[in-house]
Amino acid sequence: MATNVIPVSLPEAGASGETGIWRVFRPVINKEKCVKCWLCWLYCQEEVISEGADGFPEIDYTYCKGCGMCANECPTKAIEMVPEGRGNSL
Ligand code: SF4
Ligand code: SF4
Repeated sequence: MATNVIPVSLPEAGASGETGIWRVFRPVINKEKCVKCWLCWLYCQEEVISEGADGFPEIDYTYCKGCGMCANECPTKAIEMVPEGRGNSL
């Protein structure tokens, strides 16, 4: 066994299955408050935030588990955690 190998865990979209099925809250980005600092992308452990066609962050709701980490770290509070089932569909 090699002794210089360091085990790492890299995030991968879908690693926890299609979490959109059981998510309770979903993050919604207010583009008027977003300053494109990409901290949400940096902190999302599910790797489900990417750059949308308009240059703003875009969330893949099929795999977002609604943990709220992105909303917690956003410096401008541009991300609101909205309860599922209140006029929000996948
Ligand atoms: S952390 Fe907030 S301000 Fe920064 S890119 Fe994400 S949504 Fe925009
Ligand atoms: S709620 Fe969690 S899983 Fe969903 S985009 Fe934000 S940090 Fe990623």
